[in-house]
Amino acid sequence: MRYSQYMLNTVKEVPADAEVLSHQLMIRTGMIKKVAAGIYSYLPFGLRALRKVEQIVREEMNRAGAIEVLMPMVTPAELWQESGRWQQYGKELLRIKDRKQADFCLGPTHEEVITDIVRREIRSYRQLPLNLYQIQTKFRDEIRPRFGLMRGREFIMKDAYSFDLDDAGADESYRKMYQAYRRIFERCGLKFRAVEADSGAIGGSFSHEFMVLAESGEDAIVSCDSCEYAANVEKAELKAAGTAAAPAAQLEKVLTPARRSIEEVAAYLKLDPWQLVKTLVVETDSGEVVAVLLRGDRELNTIKLCNLLDADWVEMASDETVLKATGAPTGFAGPVGLTLRILADLEVEAMSDFVVGANEKDYHYTGANHGRDFQVERFADLRQAVAGDACPRCDGKLESWRGVEVGHVFKLGTKYSESMAAKVLDEQGRERALVMGCYGIGIGRTVAASIEQNHDENGIIWPMPIAPFQVLITLVNPKDEAVCEAGEKLYRDLLEQGIEVLLDDRDERPGSKFKDADLIGIPLRVTVGSRGLKDGNLELQVRRGGERSMVPLAEVASRVA
Ligand code: ATP
Ligand code: MG
Ligand code: MG
Ligand code: MG
Repeated sequence: MRYSQYMLNTVKEVPADAEVLSHQLMIRTGMIKKVAAGIYSYLPFGLRALRKVEQIVREEMNRAGAIEVLMPMVTPAELWQESGRWQQYGKELLRIKDRKQADFCLGPTHEEVITDIVRREIRSYRQLPLNLYQIQTKFRDEIRPRFGLMRGREFIMKDAYSFDLDDAGADESYRKMYQAYRRIFERCGLKFRAVEADSGAIGGSFSHEFMVLAESGEDAIVSCDSCEYAANVEKAELKAAGTAAAPAAQLEKVLTPARRSIEEVAAYLKLDPWQLVKTLVVETDSGEVVAVLLRGDRELNTIKLCNLLDADWVEMASDETVLKATGAPTGFAGPVGLTLRILADLEVEAMSDFVVGANEKDYHYTGANHGRDFQVERFADLRQAVAGDACPRCDGKLESWRGVEVGHVFKLGTKYSESMAAKVLDEQGRERALVMGCYGIGIGRTVAASIEQNHDENGIIWPMPIAPFQVLITLVNPKDEAVCEAGEKLYRDLLEQGIEVLLDDRDERPGSKFKDADLIGIPLRVTVGSRGLKDGNLELQVRRGGERSMVPLAEVASRVA
């Protein structure tokens, strides 16, 4: 590709809403253009990176035995009514009507559609196991789209769905996907970890999230320093350490004795209600005082509470034993509805036995310190909670970090196959509900996460496997005949070898070309200048680390390959 004929306009300014580096760099390198909140066009340079990730995903899914399909983005309400999610899904599900007033929605995920396909196509256990996947555009009307492609409303996802006759088969399908995911993220050049995750609304029997390590990540993760244990704190749970709590004087009192809706609580605590992981002491309508852990469930559009004494998650709307539902607070769709009486007249000192900082940076109580003031425990161990950041699996210590969820594997069980009657005949001729799994990867989010991990102050540093181009040839002065000739020849030679090359043949100052080269971050760079050419050399430079060497003209093509 010739830069002079390409559409790759780098920009200096970044919009005010670009808070994280990957978003800023994607805008500055002209990879994406915002069309509306959380909705982007992919421009040529950005699209190349997305396609690279897609290709890796496709190859690894195929290698794992999954088969590609493509489902529609617009899906009929009937399917969602069958599974019950038409009612359960909150405002993230964008519902639309056609000209006949029939209800449809834009698919945020495709369990219903795929289950409908499989129940009509698959009759016998002999056709199993089956794993179908697609790479397709999703729509989720996210409450707070942000960070560019990291949390868009429209985004590209690879979603796969496995179907097995029994649990053992489903576990094997899950294991295969887990391995495929490891390969995918390794090939993308990412530092990641698979962590145990709450299976949330989909209600699987187990699930793992693939987390890319990044400071800007929205998820908080703990992992053990000596064993394999790693979990999303949504599952691992935060627990206050009564013994090591910060002195009361250092904690700012953030709760007031008032009746508040969840939404008000969230606003008051400066938290996105859907990201709430919060320990509170509350009073129920029946006057009982309980310590609870609170978390929003985006998919179901509900708030879940865990009574720390029972160590059990409860969906507030459906359980009256912890807190009583008292009608939906405004602003929430779905089955949410409760009022909390937050007991702030408890002394802060007493509260600090229970109440800890939120999982969001900058939202901790003033003076509270993660690690010093609270520990992490699994629910099961909560009742016998002891001091010290002990790993629930071994004698190791837990460490905490932040991550970006790029992939998620769920064992679904029979939730959809039961409700939608997806059954097959087994060897004995008996009807059995299929045991399912579902597996998602955010394509755009993976590209963004890669940039989060691979950049310096001058720009992106693409890992070779997902780089939009592998080699950049910069003609220092394209008007110089010798430079032009040597550069063009190298360009043709590399193209012939199947290498993706961008030839910077623009009539620009060398300084601004080098700046752009750093910014767009192509891994290998060949600089063709008259000075080096006099000695028959071109300069080869590696973007990561910046190592340079002069290479004889004739050897460049083979060195690059
Ligand atoms: P999150 O917790 O970040 O909201 P999720 O758990 O709702 O994500 P899943 O339903 O597990 O997402 O979807 C599978 C994958 O799709 C995620 O692991 C992520 O990579 C990607 N994804 C989900 N929501 C978005 C989004 N709004 N923008 C971009 N990618 C997304
Ligand atoms: Mg979500
Ligand atoms: Mg998630
Ligand atoms: Mg998820």
